[in-house]
Amino acid sequence: MKALVTGGAGFIGSHLVDRLLRNGCDLIVLDNLSTGRLENLSDSGSSRCVKFHKVDVADLEAILPLFQGVDWVFHLAALADIVPSIQKPMEYHRSNVGGTVSVLEASRKSGVKRFIYVASSSCYGIPDIYPTPETEPARPQYPYAFTKYVGEQYVMHWGKVYKLPVVSLRLFNVFGPRSRTSGTYGAVFGVFLAQKLNNLPYTVVGDGAQTRDFTFVADVVNACIIAASSDLCNEVLNVGSGQTHSINKLVELLEGDVVYIPKRPGEPDRTHADIAKVRSLLGWEPEVSFEEGVNILLENIDYWREAPVWTPETISVATMDWFNYLGR
Ligand code: UDP
Repeated sequence: MKALVTGGAGFIGSHLVDRLLRNGCDLIVLDNLSTGRLENLSDSGSSRCVKFHKVDVADLEAILPLFQGVDWVFHLAALADIVPSIQKPMEYHRSNVGGTVSVLEASRKSGVKRFIYVASSSCYGIPDIYPTPETEPARPQYPYAFTKYVGEQYVMHWGKVYKLPVVSLRLFNVFGPRSRTSGTYGAVFGVFLAQKLNNLPYTVVGDGAQTRDFTFVADVVNACIIAASSDLCNEVLNVGSGQTHSINKLVELLEGDVVYIPKRPGEPDRTHADIAKVRSLLGWEPEVSFEEGVNILLENIDYWREAPVWTPETISVATMDWFNYLGR
């Protein structure tokens, strides 16, 4: 089996590469290294079965030859994070929409057998129903969520019109080793682990009672591979733990002091996946509990030594546009 992973030097992508390699696949890894890190491929990159290409997925001419003979495509390359997506919507459009169309076209022209799109549960915005099923309407609150959702629409359209065998997986709050450490203010784990290493208080948003469906990266990798191995086509599936845990609970597990910072506009008080569909159509089950996942992170905490360290003051500056644009 020959698999191609876009965004393969990123957090989730690199775990997927490791697993596919262990499963005996030949691998083509594409990443422009804008946020991905070659260090994430240190376990797999030296294998003769892995070919890494530093390339931008939006450049169809450059990527097309790399799809020759590929069976499975996993499309994870994307720009993440909320604030930069508000500040640079064109870049997000180019990467997350243009990049997706380009990868779809390369896949179609190369006759790939399976196309798995890694979508985001942020498309639900602030949903009416919890646990949230796939039938809830999309109400993206900011350009990152919007562009990932538009990308998903393209994927489903290519499935319908060109019969590309597509599946879209809407991931809920993925966490695990190698979650991103770049300069941008982003996902809670990177922020808190760097604060822990520097003996600084955790910057808890609001009262910390808000909850998230934290999903461990190894479970997400399982879902990607089960989806690729199946015959399922043209389906959108939630991939979450099916549980929801508060930020206060996370702080309790990490141990340490807390400082409270203001609640942000457009942030849901809860995310919680209804995973009945993925269970029944793919037979996938989450296996790693929140507590186990947090322990694995703590065992790997050294990874965040280079991560930026955030304080209430620097977060206030970094999130100014968030309040300016979404607060109205
Ligand atoms: N969060 C927090 N402090 C931070 C960053 C995030 O308390 O410095 C909270 C945030 O309010 C949210 C949760 O952690 O409830 C997850 O945030 P993240 O940005 O990781 O994911 P998202 O909000 O996009 O689901």
